[in-house]
Amino acid sequence: MGESWPIVATMISSPSASGPAISLQNVRRTYGAITAVDDISLEIGAGSFVALVGLSGSGKSTLLKMINRLTDPTAGEVLIADDNVKAIDPHILRRRIGYVFQNIGLFPHMTISRNIAIGLELAGEKEGRSERVAELLELVELPQEMATRMPHQLSGGQQQRVGVARALATRPGLMLMDEPFGALDPVTRDSLAGQYKALHDKLGLTTIIVTHDMAEALYLADRILVMEDGQIKADATPAELLSGDVGDEAEALVAVPRAQAAHLIALSKKDGAKKA
Ligand code: ADP
Ligand code: MG
Repeated sequence: MGESWPIVATMISSPSASGPAISLQNVRRTYGAITAVDDISLEIGAGSFVALVGLSGSGKSTLLKMINRLTDPTAGEVLIADDNVKAIDPHILRRRIGYVFQNIGLFPHMTISRNIAIGLELAGEKEGRSERVAELLELVELPQEMATRMPHQLSGGQQQRVGVARALATRPGLMLMDEPFGALDPVTRDSLAGQYKALHDKLGLTTIIVTHDMAEALYLADRILVMEDGQIKADATPAELLSGDVGDEAEALVAVPRAQAAHLIALSKKDGAKKA
């Protein structure tokens, strides 16, 4: 285990750390001629639930991956609780930052139990692994008998719960989620999202979620960042976004759930009138 471990562990997992949980300073990422992330500066407070929204290709995933060093910035700095991520061993960093993505990619030939414990296994933690797995299954509301099953024996929603359990196994303070519920049916997605929000609050996590579902962002997050062409075009609370005063990019995204809601209300009124 690296020397920076105890400091990083306490700083990342303690919501009371003084500075922001995450600080991006003039961060840029180019791929050849493409600028995926274009000079973003941003601070995210500990305990916040941030949604990153925007059209496909706007740079959301790239931004997320620079936080846990799946990719490094071309320019600029990323700090986590005042520590530059460049100075932290990527393996240690990823143990302190949970990462959940679409089609979670559980290891198909490993049991659910081993899939959940893989981070602990890689960290060389031998003690109490099965107890921790039991605790995590309970946390994500999966029955204990799932532990011995194989991934293909679980539904998509159950597999995504395993993904969340796996990400939480090493007790990270920070969770990065890249369209985590995107591949699920709307009912399952809604209930998983709600349950994750409760977990975020209960465990005192800091979460950044990428979603293309604006309604999900409005419902889950306390802060919404709208990305376009590698830049943050709006940075607002759900209420501010709904008020419609935060710019055209944001308005274009909010217009869809707003129109859907209006449509449903109109339909239900029509239906009510028919019955009356
Ligand atoms: P989003 O998650 O918002 O859909 P991404 O961050 O994945 O956007 O991509 C932003 C831009 O960077 C896109 O134009 C994409 O094609 C490009 N890009 C992302 N990753 C790579 C890569 N590994 N190599 C080349 N181009 C990439
Ligand atoms: Mg993406």
